[in-house]
Amino acid sequence: MFADVSFPISSYQSFSYEIPESLLEKVKVGVRVNVTLGRRKVQGIVVDLKKTSGFKGRIRPIESLVDDQPVLDRHLWKLINWLADYYNTPVGIAAKTTLPANLSTRYKPQTQMLVKSTDEKSELPKNAKAQLSILNYLKAMDDFVTIQSLNDLASNPTEVCKKLSEKNLVEIKHEPIIPDLTGFSFKPMHKKIRFTDYQNSAIDKICNSMDKNEFKPFLLHGVTGSGKTEIYIEAARHAINQGKTVIMLLPEIALTPQIAGRFRSVFGDKVAMWHSKLTQSARAWTWKRICAGDFQVVIGARSAVFSPLKNLGLIVVDEEQESSYKQESPAPRYHARDVSLMRGKTQKATVVLASATPSLESYYNYIHGKFEYIHLPERFGGAKYPHVHVVDMMKESEETDVYGAIFSRILLEKISDRIEKNEQVILLHNRRGFAPVLRCTDCGEVETCPHCQVALTYHKSGEFLQCHFCNHMQKQLPTQCKGCQSFSLQLAGIGTQKVEEELTNQFPEATIERLDVDTARSGKNITEVLQKFSDGEINILLGTQMIAKGLDFANATLVGIINGDTGLHLPDFRAGERVFQLIYQAAGRSGRGRIPGEVVVQTYSPENAVIKYATQLDLKKYYNICLDERQALDYPPFSWMVRLEISGENRKAVEKASRILGNKFKQLPKGMILLGPAFCYRERLRNQFRMQIVIKSKKGMDPNGSKLHQYFKRIINQKDTFKLPGNVRLIVDVNPVSLL
Ligand code: ADP
Ligand code: ZN
Ligand code: ZN
Repeated sequence: MFADVSFPISSYQSFSYEIPESLLEKVKVGVRVNVTLGRRKVQGIVVDLKKTSGFKGRIRPIESLVDDQPVLDRHLWKLINWLADYYNTPVGIAAKTTLPANLSTRYKPQTQMLVKSTDEKSELPKNAKAQLSILNYLKAMDDFVTIQSLNDLASNPTEVCKKLSEKNLVEIKHEPIIPDLTGFSFKPMHKKIRFTDYQNSAIDKICNSMDKNEFKPFLLHGVTGSGKTEIYIEAARHAINQGKTVIMLLPEIALTPQIAGRFRSVFGDKVAMWHSKLTQSARAWTWKRICAGDFQVVIGARSAVFSPLKNLGLIVVDEEQESSYKQESPAPRYHARDVSLMRGKTQKATVVLASATPSLESYYNYIHGKFEYIHLPERFGGAKYPHVHVVDMMKESEETDVYGAIFSRILLEKISDRIEKNEQVILLHNRRGFAPVLRCTDCGEVETCPHCQVALTYHKSGEFLQCHFCNHMQKQLPTQCKGCQSFSLQLAGIGTQKVEEELTNQFPEATIERLDVDTARSGKNITEVLQKFSDGEINILLGTQMIAKGLDFANATLVGIINGDTGLHLPDFRAGERVFQLIYQAAGRSGRGRIPGEVVVQTYSPENAVIKYATQLDLKKYYNICLDERQALDYPPFSWMVRLEISGENRKAVEKASRILGNKFKQLPKGMILLGPAFCYRERLRNQFRMQIVIKSKKGMDPNGSKLHQYFKRIINQKDTFKLPGNVRLIVDVNPVSLL
């Protein structure tokens, strides 16, 4: 017998090795082995087994095994190969992205002790106070609890429980603390669930598809608060009951702790967490446990789509429109939604793409019959849609004679009303820092990053200027304009820190918390802040888009959007779609419980279609307008797109290489359109000049994108006629989400 062995190196090739008698039983696809490659001893992964080998030269033997069980299977290997081909990345690199870096770890997670009362009759002496109080408590709980949680009942609960266990009054078990599930989930919440008719019908459709063991994609379009999470859970339960497994993808795990908490309360230790914040060793441990079949559900951010679950029945992509599902860098620049669909197809699984604001792509796919549509048009429990007030900030300025105010009168009124009533407020402002620009009032010059063509943002805590692209920090604020030497430099614009300062001035009694990338970086635990808000300890939660989605707080009855126009005028074909989704989603945080909610949206462009229909919560209208625009300009979802980015420190070299590469695309096949080469909107980032070439291929003539795929691959891989100079880099981005 022979094995094909692949090595995680960039120049991918798999090599044949002979399997010695002694290892015949153990070598399987997905097992890692020690072999000699050239003169080096290396580790590789077995990707195929064969009776004969086509290789004519000398075939070496496999020396030994690294693992006693496979770290991936045939399906996953096939998926990795697809990934490599589709996103134009060497297979070794694609494998490296998907597999944990170091699987040979001895890491073992800490364990914790759990206890539960048995139903034995107790005859404890009256003076055994600690034993009695713990036993009574456990009887009331009637489920396993951690010994730690008994700390306030006895000074040494472990000892007490051991004594109780000797008398057979309690049962003790040890359980691994599943890495980081606790850090990113709320306390498990047990809920009494009674499904609505809409929910039941959605669950039926999804479960029926699983019963048929066939690939089927759904678009679950449920308005905010319609109870999508409970549907995921019920569908997952169905999968598990059939002996199948489930992948639950979330855009960012730290921001949606409630979903993980709900899964945990229903499925307990069947659930694993997978995300980039796990330590290497915790990752390796989790991966191997998944391979061994110890987990039935994996919850995680985009890379969880590669988790090595066997017998996959269901993949759910929550908030499927989120751009964080796209890996921007490094290659492979994959989109977890598209990978989900591919994985579902190869493993005959059901794929549920869910959102209150689907991506235009998925919406289009539903309209064209590619996805089955499930609509949940009502909020759960009779909760009403919030009432939305649109404030025209231009008019507001005229009426109050105050220009550049952060808050309108109506927003201030409503905030103070909520504080009085002990209800909660969520404020969205999608710009972090204190002031986004430092500008010369004489010549208008803006202080920019020396490495990027981007304005520096002023951060008040710490007093520094920072570039939000490369993190360049400037400790000293300049006193003089670089352009005209004038001394009148002024901070302009509004960031979350400034909003926070102003809020504190206006509402000194209120408890205010800010959540943005800076607070997260400063080590503040996002989950803790959200838990505090959920527990009612915070009046006002202020943040960037981080707080706009997925959160469910019944007592939050007011959402304020400080500047609805942020991002509206970026030169990107998805700018409008993004702003629409952000406003619609943020509005959806309001009034999810019994008390009706309100939303205040402040804007300078109330007539803009994005703002107008987002504030009317009229998704269909806006999506139709948006689809018409995209069609007229042949943008996705009406075309397939590839973006080639050419970058380097030397501007001339970048321009020259772009021109040469651009010329290669001059003879376009019918139905394709070339844009560029042109400088990117952000012309220089991290010291790199950036140009791009965009190729679009109309879907009408290229229904599944294969024409474009073959065409661009043929051109850029023509190494003999085209070679990039050493100081220029080429990035290939298939189905880019942003053209900035
Ligand atoms: P969505 O994700 O669609 O915005 P959620 O899943 O967060 O909505 O549900 C909104 C609220 O309604 C949550 O508090 C959820 O627990 C509750 N809920 C939804 N469906 C049910 C149900 N069938 N029974 C009880 N509570 C439910
Ligand atoms: Zn100046
Ligand atoms: Zn920079």
